[in-house]
Amino acid sequence: MPSFVIQEKCDGCKGGDKTACMYICPNDLMVLDPNAMKAYNQEPDQCWECFSCVKICPTQAIEVRGYADFVPLGSSIMPMMGTEDVMWTCKFRNGLIKRFKFPIRTTPEGAANAYDDLKGKDLESELLSTEEADGRTLPTPQATV
Ligand code: SF4
Ligand code: SF4
Repeated sequence: MPSFVIQEKCDGCKGGDKTACMYICPNDLMVLDPNAMKAYNQEPDQCWECFSCVKICPTQAIEVRGYADFVPLGSSIMPMMGTEDVMWTCKFRNGLIKRFKFPIRTTPEGAANAYDDLKGKDLESELLSTEEADGRTLPTPQATV
């Protein structure tokens, strides 16, 4: 099932140029109705249920409900983003609720550096970072040559 917006909870991200769900959707599916100030999924059949919009929505106005063959009716899965982890709340159709917390980062917020592993590399080179000029691939630290 694709994402859908619970209209009562959506505040249109308070009228910003681009709402959070529009910003995050990798498929550009979310749009804002400027008159109602409510977002909606403009092409539900193109939604791949990645949950990105669900996670980023500041008012928890978006839900993705799983297909009935593997998520029975009446159940739901809802992520709640934290700075260090995501808390998933799984509600079973008999009312049982279970929560799982998964870490989402290994460095303090704002400290990740994508170039750390590339120190000393020629970033202008057309070679891959693990590729030698003679075409060999550099061994990983664990590999024996
Ligand atoms: S992110 Fe949430 S509150 Fe903001 S426009 Fe989208 S559905 Fe509405
Ligand atoms: S679940 Fe993913 S693909 Fe579907 S509308 Fe949300 S962000 Fe886009």
